[in-house]
Amino acid sequence: MKLSIVLPIYNEEENLRLLYDQLISPLNKLGEKYEIVCVNDGSSDNSWGVLKDLASQDSNVKVVNFKNNFGQTAAMSAGIKFSQGEIIIPMDADLQNDPADIYKFLEKINEGFDVVSGWRKNRQDTLISRKLPSWIANWIIGKITGVKIHDYGCSMKAYKREIIKDVNLYGEMHRFIPAYASWQGAKVTEIVVNHHPRIHGQTKYGLGRTFKVVLDLIVVKFLSVYMNRPIHFFGGLGFMSLFLGIVIGIMAVLLRIFEIKYIVETPLPTLSALLVIVGVQLIAMGILAEMIMRTYYESQHKEPYIIKDKINFTD
Ligand code: UDP
Ligand code: MG
Repeated sequence: MKLSIVLPIYNEEENLRLLYDQLISPLNKLGEKYEIVCVNDGSSDNSWGVLKDLASQDSNVKVVNFKNNFGQTAAMSAGIKFSQGEIIIPMDADLQNDPADIYKFLEKINEGFDVVSGWRKNRQDTLISRKLPSWIANWIIGKITGVKIHDYGCSMKAYKREIIKDVNLYGEMHRFIPAYASWQGAKVTEIVVNHHPRIHGQTKYGLGRTFKVVLDLIVVKFLSVYMNRPIHFFGGLGFMSLFLGIVIGIMAVLLRIFEIKYIVETPLPTLSALLVIVGVQLIAMGILAEMIMRTYYESQHKEPYIIKDKINFTD
């Protein structure tokens, strides 16, 4: 299997047939084996019915039906998991992404890139609630991850299977795969894609998503830097707090001994106690995080490193 198109679907009944019609002509032109993996994310409209029809007419259409609405990232993650193609291209099922762009993604993959990200340069969404927050979010994500891509939010991207087969997606994290992949040594690029206004159905998102994205970004960044050594993060902060608490405590005692001031008139005793307690707590939290991290690696037989090549080893 060469190519898997992955479609997360939530209440898109009017779009699905049109999308299918637009998809099959570029896909058939490829002359390679392909599949269209549709994940129905608990739609309350007739999307499931339409998908069943499509799948009965065309065995290249494969459908996963969620019991409930678990969100776009979960749907995409399931689609990737059940797909078989060497190359995976997720896209929106609402006709905002353009199936005619598929060949551009494949061209870049053939040039040797591992991840190709779409850039909706001419994005057809509202300015204030969608485009502006997205510009800001992309700027922040670029700064924090160090991987500069114009449009992290574009769900139409192309991946080589080996790059994402082991990536687990949570929250809004599908958009960070290019950063993740790049940290692990993948070659990442972007291409300008078409973007159409939504004609049928409604968008499922508003301004609130930006905040979720930023929170997820903090998690991704934290995991990438401190995943193997959380105690260095918590312990570092803990030591700082403990040290400050002790210094302030000593100051308070000195004030009392030399009777410069009644220490009850100062915030020093409370501050000192607070900082010492927080410091101890942070260190304890770091130790807990270390234990959780070990469970994670050892229960799944994961190694804290990634090997690129090995020479002269016998299995
Ligand atoms: N989607 C989904 N589950 C959800 C919300 C959205 O599978 O809970 C799908 C939706 O059907 C569409 C894609 O994710 O195929 C993008 O959603 P939408 O068009 O609402 O997002 P926007 O383009 O406005 O960012
Ligand atoms: Mg959309």
